[in-house]
Amino acid sequence: MVLDYKNATAHLASYSKKDGLDVQTLIDSANFGGLTYNDFLVLPGLINFPASEVKLESKLTKKITMKSPFLSSPMDTVTEENMAIHMALLGGIGIIHHNCSADEQAEMVRKVKKFENGFINDPIVISPKITVRDIRRLKETIGFSSFPVTENGKPGAKLLGIITSRDVQFLDDDTIKAEEIMTKELVTAQKGITLTEGNNILRTSKKGKLPIVDAQGNLVSLISLTDLQKNQDYPDASKSFDSKQLLCGAAVGTIPADRERLDKLVEAGLDVVVLDSSNGSSVFQLDMLKWIKEKHPHLQVIAGNVVTRDQAALLIEAGADGLRIGMGSGSICITQEVMACGRPQGTAVYNVCEFAHQFGVPCIADGGIGNIGHITKALALGADCVMMGGLLAGTSETPGDYFYRDGKRLKTYRGMGSIDAMQSTDTNANASTSRYFSEADKVLVAQGVSGSVVDKGSITKFIPYLFNGLQHSLQDIGVTSVTDLREKVYGGDVRFEFRTASAQLEGGVHGLHSYEKKLHN
Ligand code: GDP
Ligand code: GDP
Ligand code: 5GP
Repeated sequence: MVLDYKNATAHLASYSKKDGLDVQTLIDSANFGGLTYNDFLVLPGLINFPASEVKLESKLTKKITMKSPFLSSPMDTVTEENMAIHMALLGGIGIIHHNCSADEQAEMVRKVKKFENGFINDPIVISPKITVRDIRRLKETIGFSSFPVTENGKPGAKLLGIITSRDVQFLDDDTIKAEEIMTKELVTAQKGITLTEGNNILRTSKKGKLPIVDAQGNLVSLISLTDLQKNQDYPDASKSFDSKQLLCGAAVGTIPADRERLDKLVEAGLDVVVLDSSNGSSVFQLDMLKWIKEKHPHLQVIAGNVVTRDQAALLIEAGADGLRIGMGSGSICITQEVMACGRPQGTAVYNVCEFAHQFGVPCIADGGIGNIGHITKALALGADCVMMGGLLAGTSETPGDYFYRDGKRLKTYRGMGSIDAMQSTDTNANASTSRYFSEADKVLVAQGVSGSVVDKGSITKFIPYLFNGLQHSLQDIGVTSVTDLREKVYGGDVRFEFRTASAQLEGGVHGLHSYEKKLHN
C-alpha cells in the first residue's frame, strides 16, 4: 500500500526507525575505543533562518561570556600581546604564554589592557617643563603621542594644557618646553559625566582627546576618540563591562614562583588565568587554585587540563571557573605516544562537559582543532569554547618571523613540551619545563615537536572565516545558537552518525588528478 504523500512528516512522528544516534549512544557504542572528531558526523536539520542570524555567543568561565567561542593557545609561537589584542577585538580571547619572565608576561598583559579604553583612568601625564626631546622619547617608548600637561606632571594635579603629535611634529628645536607649545584652550568635561556623554562631546567638538577634570580643575581621566573608533570597528570585542578595556588571559604554572608571577599579572589587569598543566589533577594545582581563590577572588580561573570526570570533579570542587579539556590531542603533541597517557578528544570533551555542566562550569576543548568542522563537533559534544594552537599558527599576529623553505612562506610552530621550547628561556622559572617536566629532572623528555606552518595571513580575516563558517555549519544542523545546539544534542534531537574509514575517504576530496584547497578569499 502506498501512503498518502501529504502525511509524510506526520507518519515520521510515529515511525519506529530514527536516523542516526543520539549523543550518548554515539559515545557508548564507541566503548571499544575513544572517539575523535573525525570518527563521526552530525546529521543535518531543518533550515528556517539565515546563517547570519546564528548566535555564537558562549561562556568562557562562570562569569565571562564572549561573542565568539575562540581562544588562542598559551604557546610561545601563538599568543603574545598582538595575538591577544586581536583575538579580543574579534570577540574571543588570547591566553598569553608564560615561557618568559614574569615581568615580560605582565608587560604583555598591560599592553592588551591599555589598547582600548573607556575612561583612561591613569593617563600618562607630563610636566610643563619637559622638553620636546623628552616628549619624543616618551612617544617612542609607550606608543601614543597625546599627553595632558599638569602643574606637577602627575595625574590628579591641576590641568594646564595638552600636547598632541601635531604640536611637536614640525619643531626643529628639541629644547623647547611643553608649556611653550601646549594647547591651553581646552575642551574638558566635569568628573561624573557618563562615557556616552563624553563621547558625544568628542564628536561635536571634533577633538581627539577629552580630559575630565574635577571642580578644582584637577585632571581625573581622559577619553580618546580613537577608542570610540575601535569600538565601532570591532563591535563584538570581548571587553570589561565597566572599563571597556579588552579582556586578557594569561597562563601560569603551579610552582611556588608562579604565585609571584600571578600577582604581577593581576596588577597589570589580568581578567582570566589559565593553570597550565598537562595533567591538572595534581595537589599542586589544587593548592594553587585554593591560594588564588583566597588572594585574588575576582580573578576567573580556568583549571586543567583534564580528560576524565574524576579529574574534573577535583578541580570543580576546588572552585574552578572553567575547565580546559585535552591530553595528547594537540597537533604538535607526542604525549600519548611517549607517556601512554591521554584520551581521544571527542570522548574526553563529551564526558567532561556533560559532568561539568551540571555544576555550571564552562569547558574549553583544547587541541586537535584542524578546521571549522572540528569546532562544530567540539561544540556539539558539549564544549563552550575551543582553544586553538596550530590552526592560528602562521598568522601574522603570532610571534616570530616568516622564513622561506621549499618555495613556501613559513613560520615556526612548536609544542611547549618540545625540547626547543623547554630549552629556549634563560629565566629561572621555565614555563614549558614546569608544565611538562619537573625542575629536578636531569634529562628532558620531549612531549611535543617543533615544526613549521604555512603563512595564513592575518587573523582579522581568518577568525571571521571561522566565525562565518561556524554559523553556516550550525545552520546546516538546524540550530540557531551554541545554546540551542547544546539543548538539542542533550535532548536527542540533533543526531550523529559514525564515520567508517571509507566514509572518511568519501567525505574528503577524491578522484581528482590535482586540486588546490583554497579555504577563503
Ligand atoms: P595618541 O597618539 O596619544 O593621540 O593616541 P591615539 O588616540 O591614537 O591612541 C592611543 C591609544 O592608547 C588609545 O586607544 C588609548 O586608549 C590608549 N591609551 C592607553 N593609555 C593611554 C594614555 O595614558 N594616554 C593616551 N594618550 N592614550 C592611552
Ligand atoms: P558597547 O556595546 O561596547 O557599545 O557598550 P555600551 O553599549 O555599554 O557602550 C556605552 C557607551 O560607551 C557607548 O556610547 C559606546 O559607544 C561607548 N563605548 C564602548 N566602548 C568604548 C570604548 O572602548 N571607548 C570609548 N571611548 N567609548 C566606548
Ligand atoms: P593544536 O591546536 O595545535 O592541535 O593544539 C594546541 C594544544 O596542544 C595547546 O593548547 C596545548 O594544550 C597542547 N600542547 C602545546 N604544546 C604541547 C606539547 O609540547 N605537548 C603536548 N602534549 N601538548 C601540547
